[in-house]
Amino acid sequence: MLVVMKAHATEEQVRAVCERIESLGYRPHAIPGAQRTAIGITGNKGAMEAGALEEMSGVQEVIIVSKPYKLVSRDVKEEDTVINLPGTDAAVGGRELGIVAGPCAIECREQAFAIAERVAKTGARFFRGGAYKPRTSPYAFQGMGEAGLKIMAEIRDRFGLRIVTEAIDNESLDLVAEYADVVQIGARNMQNFSLLKKAGKIRKPVLLKRGMSATLEEFLMAAEYILSEGNYEVILCERGVRTFADHTRNTLDLSIVPAVQKLSHLPILVDPSHGTGKRDKVLPLSRAAIAVGADGLIVEVHHDPDRALSDGMQSLFPDQFDELMAEIRQIAPVVHRTLQEPLRQPVVAKAGK
Ligand code: PEP
Ligand code: MN
Repeated sequence: MLVVMKAHATEEQVRAVCERIESLGYRPHAIPGAQRTAIGITGNKGAMEAGALEEMSGVQEVIIVSKPYKLVSRDVKEEDTVINLPGTDAAVGGRELGIVAGPCAIECREQAFAIAERVAKTGARFFRGGAYKPRTSPYAFQGMGEAGLKIMAEIRDRFGLRIVTEAIDNESLDLVAEYADVVQIGARNMQNFSLLKKAGKIRKPVLLKRGMSATLEEFLMAAEYILSEGNYEVILCERGVRTFADHTRNTLDLSIVPAVQKLSHLPILVDPSHGTGKRDKVLPLSRAAIAVGADGLIVEVHHDPDRALSDGMQSLFPDQFDELMAEIRQIAPVVHRTLQEPLRQPVVAKAGK
C-alpha cells in the first residue's frame, strides 16, 4: 500500500501518518518526491485497511500497489533517484554519467595505485577493486581482505576517487561498509536475502549486480529487500546473463536498461567487462550501454592484465580506458548526459573511513 500525501502536506502531517502506520504494526517509508511525498508501507502481516489512513489530514489518496515490488517502483517515486556521494561531485543517476573503473581485485599497493592514477586522469569518479573475491575455484586468489580495503582507503585520500568494493557475505559486510563509499553486492549474491537485508541497514549506497539468470522482476525484488530495510540508495547493475552463446562469457542484456527505467526510479549502471569477458568487446558495448541510456559504467582496468590475479582477459589496458572515456564523452550529449572532467587535484576528503 502507498499513501500519497498532498503537494503541500506539512512535515508534521507526514510524521503523523508514519506514526499511525507504525501503530498498526507496519513500517512506513516516507519518500520525498519533487511534487509530493509518498509513504510506502511494508510489513509482512498481509493486507492492511486503507480507511485508517485515508481520512488523515494531508493525505491525498491511498493506493493499493499491485506489483510485488513497491519502494523501488516509480509508483512511489516518479523522478529518478540520484545518489550523491557526500562532500564530492561524484554521483550516479543524474545528468552526469557515473564511471567506476579499476581492477577486478586489489592485488597489492603498487598495482592499485598505478591503476587508480590512470583512471583518475580521465574523469572517473569511482575506483573499483575487490578485497573479498567470490571465485569459482577455491584455489584461485580470494582477495587481500582488510589489507585490500586499507589500500582502497589510501586511494580515496590520494586521488579523491570514491571507493566501490564488494561484500561477499554477512561477515565481510560490516568491515567493507566501514571503508567503502559504495558497497557492491555481486551477481552470485543477488538473492542472498540475509545479506540483502543486512545491506538495507547500512548507511552507504549499495551497488547491486544482476544475478546470472535473474529476471527483471527478481532483480527489482532483490533491490526491494534493501530498500525495505530503510536503505534507499541502491544502484542497479547489469553485468550479463548466462545464455547458450559462447562467443562471450555472458550475454550483456542492454535491453534491461530501458526496462528498468520504465518501472523503477533507481539508477542503473552497465558492466561491459563481466558482461562480455573479453577485452575487445568492452569498448563497443560501453558505447552501446551509454547510447541505450545507462547511468554509467563499471569497467575493469589493469596496468598489466596478463599478470592480473583475476579477470585479466576482460581488463582494459589504461590506454584503452582513455579511449573509451574519449568516445563516451562524445556520445554522452546525444543522450543528454555529460561526462565529468578529470579531478584537477587530489581531494583530501575522508568520506567513509
Ligand atoms: C566483480 O565485479 O568483480 C564481480 C565479481 O562481478 P559479478 O558479481 O558481476 O560477477
Ligand atoms: Mn572481475
